[in-house]
Amino acid sequence: MKLTFPHMGNMYIPVKGLLEYLDLEVVVPPFSTKKTLELGVKYSPEFACLPLKINLGNFIEARELGADTIIMAGGVGPCRFGLYAQVEKEILQDLGYDFETLVLEPPDKHFGQFIARVKRIIGSNSWWKVMEAIKFAYRKSYAVDMVERKVQKLRPLEKKPGTVDMIYKHALNSIDNAQSFSTLEEATSLSLLKLDQVPIESDREVIKIGLIGEIYTLLEPFVNLDIEKELGKLGVEVTRSLYLSEWISSHLLKNLITDENIKPFRDLAKPYLNYFVGGHGWETVGYAVGFSQEGYHGLIQLAPLTCMPEIVAHNILGKVKEDCQIPILTIYLDEHSGKAGLITRIEAFVDLIRRQLETQRRLAR
Ligand code: SF4
Repeated sequence: MKLTFPHMGNMYIPVKGLLEYLDLEVVVPPFSTKKTLELGVKYSPEFACLPLKINLGNFIEARELGADTIIMAGGVGPCRFGLYAQVEKEILQDLGYDFETLVLEPPDKHFGQFIARVKRIIGSNSWWKVMEAIKFAYRKSYAVDMVERKVQKLRPLEKKPGTVDMIYKHALNSIDNAQSFSTLEEATSLSLLKLDQVPIESDREVIKIGLIGEIYTLLEPFVNLDIEKELGKLGVEVTRSLYLSEWISSHLLKNLITDENIKPFRDLAKPYLNYFVGGHGWETVGYAVGFSQEGYHGLIQLAPLTCMPEIVAHNILGKVKEDCQIPILTIYLDEHSGKAGLITRIEAFVDLIRRQLETQRRLAR
């Protein structure tokens, strides 16, 4: 059994870590590129969500490297995510790719079914070893997030453009290559130390923007056209509403491991939205309120084109913008999105925020 899984930002690091800890054979798909997207677009229904198309491309590319079994997370309605795995399986079958698909749904009801699926993957590994592997994978995801949060803070301040991203790339490699808890700890501390030593101009004016929206467009730089890096170049410090370890903790581990960074988004969203609308629409609204209460200067919502939960949130964000007096830009992404267009839009948005701040300063004098 050669296992593979779809890409979503740096998720490959903990997933690979987990499977290798259990001595299972893993095929990490090549990083998503234009070719991956073209493959996905070619074989998916036109109306399918962008993440489904790219995941399909990932699977086809992983197959070329010998993968024969797909592991993916499942979900429930009301959006299309619940149907993803089945649709992908059927498309791959029609294309003649003979994959076995193991969908891991969060075990709300059918616990026995969930256990049976996990057992098929873990083989003769003991449950104790599985628990250790999960802990190891979670620690990897947490290490990635710690490094990412620091990178997001330093990008707008670095003296020599590109230094932070160079260290970030090395940090991801060393976290990925760590084979034990102790080497992981070493790799993380060393990476954070290197980032702390980057020469910065600490008195530079930094704009703080909260990135909110759908998980895949938030976490996958190929899809969001490296928006975090581009914002960093414009002097913007970014914080996302969602980090990998938080998603693993809340969605896959059902909060067995808690993360102190998670905000009570449901309470924050209450005046505007009081129930689950699928995907991360609820979080989008809650975090929009949270970020504005924390004094962020603006918000950018990212979503795949036609993403139902984010369309619901988008409609509500108009009211949040009015009540909280915070500029909000919504960017829908699909296979036709281009970097030049994105840069023009974010430059205009950052310009608007800077002018607003200048006006506020003048009025306060
Ligand atoms: S959250 Fe949005 S992009 Fe994801 S499956 Fe649902 S509708 Fe599609």
